[in-house]
Amino acid sequence: MNNDEFRAWSRRAADWGTDYRDTLRERPVRPALSPGAIFRSIEASPPEAAESMDRIFADFEQKIVPGMTHWQHPRFFAYFPANAAPVSVVAEYLVSAMAAQCMLWQTSPAATELETRTVDWMRQALGLPDGFSGVIQDSASSATLAAVLTMRERALDWQGNRQGLSGQATLRVYSSDQVHTSIDRAIWVSGIGEENLVRIPVAGRFRAMDTAALEAAIVADRKAGMLPAGIIACVGGTSTGGTDDIAAVAAVAKRHGLYMHVDAAWAGSAMICPEYRHFWTGVEEADSVVFNPHKWLGAQFDCSIQFVRQPEDLVRTLAIKPDYLKTHGHDGIINYSEWSVPLGRRFRALKLWFLLRAHGLEGLRTMIRNHVAWSEGLAARLAKEPDFDIVTEPMLSLFSFRHRAGASADPDEHNLRLVNAINDDGRIYLTQTRVDGRVAIRFQTGQFDATAADVDAAFDVVTETARGFA
Ligand SMILES: *Cc1c(COP(=O)(O)O)cnc(C)c1O
Repeated sequence: MNNDEFRAWSRRAADWGTDYRDTLRERPVRPALSPGAIFRSIEASPPEAAESMDRIFADFEQKIVPGMTHWQHPRFFAYFPANAAPVSVVAEYLVSAMAAQCMLWQTSPAATELETRTVDWMRQALGLPDGFSGVIQDSASSATLAAVLTMRERALDWQGNRQGLSGQATLRVYSSDQVHTSIDRAIWVSGIGEENLVRIPVAGRFRAMDTAALEAAIVADRKAGMLPAGIIACVGGTSTGGTDDIAAVAAVAKRHGLYMHVDAAWAGSAMICPEYRHFWTGVEEADSVVFNPHKWLGAQFDCSIQFVRQPEDLVRTLAIKPDYLKTHGHDGIINYSEWSVPLGRRFRALKLWFLLRAHGLEGLRTMIRNHVAWSEGLAARLAKEPDFDIVTEPMLSLFSFRHRAGASADPDEHNLRLVNAINDDGRIYLTQTRVDGRVAIRFQTGQFDATAADVDAAFDVVTETARGFA
């Protein structure tokens, strides 16, 4: 591809992206496809000879697009959003055109320094105290892994990386049973082991860890000769928004000298609105906090910010300095690859900078407040329907509900069939979860372009589909 062709195809791609967004509402949110259909439509062997871009692009439009689940669809109410505000897509285009590796300050000073600045913008936007610095990781899973490795090293007096874990005391980490599976995987990969992730029971409307049980578990583990390393608290759990009492957990962590990591991957974005910050009162006591601007806030995936109170501990855990990576002569520079597990890094700060400037915090707050209000409105409407039950009340914009099955039907099976029928319809997309072992249908509003009318459409699709079922 020469430069003239590059220009022409880049323009074509930009036009395509705009047309795509223009027509999203008319597309089914999730494709109705059987597994393997797309795989079979792709040539079994790679081409020996070059093909024309016309053919490649036509295949993209004909074979690939119909098989996509449309995460930018305004009626995407499943999982959590993965919003790509158009302005962040533009920034990503520029980033991919420059294609820099931003691992060290000198491999792209602008990427490093803009990252330091935009992370601090976000710190201020969330109301975190100025003691926190941070880094943009690819995902919350990576951030949580980095936090778990740091708590492991701190507990082992920085000997784990050198000596390995055999011969060490058994490390213990504590969390509720509402945390994301990324916590399990961080525990596996760090060598701590699933059996040493102690699940503290939850109670109350927000399914918060019972901190008395947490403290008792730590004391009992110490007595048994084990080594408590840290606590992972959660604000806005994936299933139903489970949220720990961060201040109470922080007090336990402090009393026992444990590292505390807060996973607010989804709910963190809402903290740009002061009125929601009561959900994480005490967060200033955390050692690290992760939240994903690539979820609700609108920064194209991937963009996950890990705030840390003591970056020295993170760097001490993860920095390797072979000679060829040394950047001589610049005091006070930051090499962000020392803050994360992978060496190579994308220039992720640019899209955040574009996003925050193009929308302003007030614009983003309005979006989030609307989503919360619309979800609460929908929950209230469904609660008034005689055959629907609200299972978990809205936590920000997330709630769960159930349709009452007829006397002869199994309620779990009935609700699974209902959610499948709703998704096959294509107008909206929802996912299910289990609450106290029983199936519930999850609903969250969060897509960047969603309107009140889209949420009303969800009410119609859910109630019509359920009626057709009875
Ligand atoms: C989405 C989510 C994660 C995982 O985020 P990734 O960036 O996909 O790794 C972790 N925790 C919570 C609470 C989440 O909502």
